[in-house]
Amino acid sequence: MNTSANASGVRVRIAPSPTGEPHVGTAYIALFNYLFAKKHGGAFILRIEDTDATRSTSEFEQKVLDALKWCGLEWSEGPDVGGPYGPYRQSERKDIYRPYVDRIVEAGHGFKCFCTPERLDKMREAQRAAGKPPKYDGLCLHLTAEEVTKRVAAGEPHVVRMKIPTEGACKFVDGVYGPVEIPWDAVDMQVLLKADGMPTYHMANVVDDHLMKITHVARGEEWLASVPKHILIYQYLGLEPPVFMHLSLMRNADKSKLSKRKNPTSISYYSALGYLPEALMNFLGLFFIQIAEGEELLTVDQLAEKFDPENLSKAGAIFDIQKLDWLNGRWLREQLSEEDFTQRVLEWAMENDRVRQGLRLSQSRISKLGELPDLAGFLLKSDLGLTPASFARVKSTPEEILEVLNQVQPDLEKMPEWTVESIEAELRASADRLGKKLKVVVAPLFVAVSGSSRSLPLFDSMAILGRSVVRQRLKVAAQVVASMAGSGK
Ligand code: GLU
Repeated sequence: MNTSANASGVRVRIAPSPTGEPHVGTAYIALFNYLFAKKHGGAFILRIEDTDATRSTSEFEQKVLDALKWCGLEWSEGPDVGGPYGPYRQSERKDIYRPYVDRIVEAGHGFKCFCTPERLDKMREAQRAAGKPPKYDGLCLHLTAEEVTKRVAAGEPHVVRMKIPTEGACKFVDGVYGPVEIPWDAVDMQVLLKADGMPTYHMANVVDDHLMKITHVARGEEWLASVPKHILIYQYLGLEPPVFMHLSLMRNADKSKLSKRKNPTSISYYSALGYLPEALMNFLGLFFIQIAEGEELLTVDQLAEKFDPENLSKAGAIFDIQKLDWLNGRWLREQLSEEDFTQRVLEWAMENDRVRQGLRLSQSRISKLGELPDLAGFLLKSDLGLTPASFARVKSTPEEILEVLNQVQPDLEKMPEWTVESIEAELRASADRLGKKLKVVVAPLFVAVSGSSRSLPLFDSMAILGRSVVRQRLKVAAQVVASMAGSGK
């Protein structure tokens, strides 16, 4: 996309927080913004929102960049390519936000709050007990200027909060939802600056959208309730807010929120299984356009031609894996030349160096090359075809295996890093927590992850497969084992 010729002045962005595996929901929002920019001859920008220092990691940031590149969504400004309004990583913009917070406080629209986390917890507890939604009660609103100065001078930790009108409602027109009205009473006195001097998401997001000259903010509907705070911050700073567009979230077929507990949600899962990025973009893009049956197969360029944000599809975004499978199959069979197909297969097999790593681990374990597919093929398979018989060599009962799987799944989720060493350390810790020997934990995992009791070393295999594939395999294994439990295996 030629975004340098930004004649329309339209500037949109995707602003992911690098706090986890890149999610298909991020690709969905990114694609909308990308198509929007393309449609208007505007610029598509990537900004990393890493104000939450405890949860953001550079590993996840790299993964977000890689995943969006894999999707083919190129940005013209971002942390990796620079641009006129950089830096594009909020942790590098810390000093930029402070003066804006000061301006809000000086104009009397914000106030310093010295309430301790303990007091706030108690306050919220009491509100909940009274059946009210938790909200700051405004205690520090009434401090005198002298008292504030004294407490600041004494080094008392404090945050800065924004004031909220006490009456009426915030009215705005959302580009997707149309007119929206949210009573001010439902809006919290949001913290703008944390005690450590870092801005909150809301403050940094508004300042950056302003400084980066963002004209349209298109994001998930979970942010709709934050718009009153954002509009107020713009007003307090005397700035014009952008146009807001809140897109309906992708949902499971049962309408529940798309979550990794139900369906794989990581982009890396879909690339590992051999979905083509063109097919994934095609699938996601269909949520934004109106087409007749039989016209589903579309490139991103064709999606952009048909894209009309004034007339979005009202069908709701159901993440229907069967439809994705169908589209992917059509892309593979109908859109790739023989040469292209071979090339894609090779690239896919080499993804994350997995074939090379698999061969490295296999070399010392074979007597004929023909044994390789059985030994290492699990690294590439989309479905291991697990059955109760797969667990025949595991000495534990189905109930014990389930106990292991139930302990290990959440343990693996909370690991910040996914490496051979960290996996081993975490599984040792899981074994300790269960009061079991490591080999008792490892044996069923071997089967869950590789489909067999004889295969490559477990920790290495898990590292090569990646967290999203392992997560799905453990889930499938737990279902198979649950069907055995109580049936006297
Ligand atoms: N950092 C937010 C997120 O991860 C961005 C929300 C927005 O686009 O304003 O969803």
